[in-house]
Amino acid sequence: MDAEQLRENAHKMVDFIADYYKNIENFPVLSQVEPGYLRTLLPDSAPNHPESLQDVLDDFQAKILPGVTHWQSPDYFAYFPSNSSIAGFLGEMLSAGINMVGFSWITSPAATELEMIVLDWLAKVIKLPDDFLSTGQGGGVIQGTASEAVLVVLLAARDKVLRRVGKNALGKLVVYSSDQTHSALQKACQIGGIHPENCRVLKTDSSTEYALSPELLNEAISHDIAIGLIPFFLCATVGTTSSTAVDPLLGLGKITKSNGIWLHVDAAYAGSACICPEFRHYIDGVEEADSFNMNAHKWFLTNFDCSALWVKDRGALIQSLSTNPEFLKNKASQGNMVVDYKDWQIPLGRRFRSLKLWMVLRLYGLENLQSYIRNHIELAKHFEELVSQDPRFKVVTPRKFSLVCFRLLPPHSNEECANKLNHDLLDTVNSTGRIFISHTVLSGNYILRFAVGAPLTEERHINAAWKVIQEEATALLRTL
Ligand code: PLP
Repeated sequence: MDAEQLRENAHKMVDFIADYYKNIENFPVLSQVEPGYLRTLLPDSAPNHPESLQDVLDDFQAKILPGVTHWQSPDYFAYFPSNSSIAGFLGEMLSAGINMVGFSWITSPAATELEMIVLDWLAKVIKLPDDFLSTGQGGGVIQGTASEAVLVVLLAARDKVLRRVGKNALGKLVVYSSDQTHSALQKACQIGGIHPENCRVLKTDSSTEYALSPELLNEAISHDIAIGLIPFFLCATVGTTSSTAVDPLLGLGKITKSNGIWLHVDAAYAGSACICPEFRHYIDGVEEADSFNMNAHKWFLTNFDCSALWVKDRGALIQSLSTNPEFLKNKASQGNMVVDYKDWQIPLGRRFRSLKLWMVLRLYGLENLQSYIRNHIELAKHFEELVSQDPRFKVVTPRKFSLVCFRLLPPHSNEECANKLNHDLLDTVNSTGRIFISHTVLSGNYILRFAVGAPLTEERHINAAWKVIQEEATALLRTL
């Protein structure tokens, strides 16, 4: 690494990226390429001799960029957001610059200690109970994704209960969730060896706004205990992926507590909103949770990846995930004086991800971060009002955060026709390249999802997006 070469090239790269952001509204938000497009554009093998940065950037512009879907575009409204920011970007840059691998405290003491401190800061910002702080038996750790977070806590909970009831009982362990829980839990169960028949997916419907009913959970647990099974894990969600439903943690927590079940709270998207006092009530009851997760890389201005996981009993994680090979032994670890995050996660190696979260918290401050969340929620409210004013459309579930679920009503109320109509509307809207929205299915109905959350989105983008949707709907309705 030649410092002067780095300076010259990195300046060019920053200019290139800044220009990308300047022009971001000119690209089709959803990439319009066909599968396999890139193989015809790039050579079959890697070059033998070095090429210039300019040549690579030219190729990026001409060949790669058309195959990029622009998640940071102000016209991006699909799935959930995945924010970037100047602070998050600079934090990533610093981390890439230092490029250390902080699996044990000794491999870079600052990486471990900053992660502990920053996750304590964030836990205090969202008012998690003190049991989740690293100053006690718990603590926070940055995972790559919410999927990894739920996997590691599922393994910890599984092993904790097996230590009590005996290893042979694995086939009797039961996991609970709702039919709105993210598929990350299913994957965790597959990896964790939970018998597929012991994964209880409890039904939700519009009567609870797609939230999990404590009564249903209670019934399922009683039934499982009666037939000799062992309930051990509930994944509750605050802000479900389809419609941002909020499972009632207070009611669910009482049940998990009295049955000795590990309660994991997946607040991957909506956890960020809880930094605002007016939205904190959505996680009331988190006091009874054993683990809590939010993706700072979704809606907290922290570049991907950064998924914050807190546990109350870090010993449970460590007992499941620790290894102690000779080549990693050192005085600090052997003396039990430090946290070694390798024992809180699946991989050994880990990046200095706390830097970007630290920079986001310091460069923006809580007040600005709260305004940022509130602004998106106001913009979503504005979109919801626009939809409500057009009698051809219907808002399907009450909006809680910055996601609006809505659908176009068919001229004759025929469900099959309505599903096809909305499917077609999604396709035509996205193929304009002007905006990108996504869909879900609730109670058998095909629903359109409009998620506000790109940092550059302003009211004018919401108005323009609604115009695109209206125009495409008008054209589609004319064909019926
Ligand atoms: N949980 C919820 C509620 C989500 O919405 C998502 C993704 O959108 C996930 C989990 C999975 O996230 P990740 O990609 O971080 O694994």
